[in-house]
Amino acid sequence: MHLRIASLALTALMAAGLGLTAQSDHEEFRVTGRAVCLKNGSPGPVADCGFGDPFGIEAEDGALHRLDPTDLRVEILTDERVNQHLLEVDLFVEDGIGKILHLHTIQDGEVVEPYYFCFTCNITSHIPGPCWCCQEEFEFKERPARTPHGH
Ligand SMILES: [Zn+2]
Repeated sequence: MHLRIASLALTALMAAGLGLTAQSDHEEFRVTGRAVCLKNGSPGPVADCGFGDPFGIEAEDGALHRLDPTDLRVEILTDERVNQHLLEVDLFVEDGIGKILHLHTIQDGEVVEPYYFCFTCNITSHIPGPCWCCQEEFEFKERPARTPHGH
């Protein structure tokens, strides 16, 4: 699992065009918790935040993880079909700021992958619409990711 997350982080880095200027002080880990809005400094209702505001993940153990407001993947947290659920998030954390590598919701003990789909263009996205190809609204969809923690 660590290898898988590391390779995802590498993919994210390369996709961001940052190349392999390694030795940066970062870590990747998985957090289970709820999305919160950090606009007022302390964790508030997630609905208070829009994209561009400082979202956070409040872990079940009480730890607070700040998210990068410029990370496009964070926009999915503005969707109440996502942010109402307990979340399982794989984070890439650098200088105390997290970027989302993977985000799943946990519903009735099942790990679910939320995503957006455009039938016209056959595009799957993890960022809310409109579709960047035809400008139509994406359809919100969910599919089972896997069983939690291998059970
Ligand atoms: Zn489209």
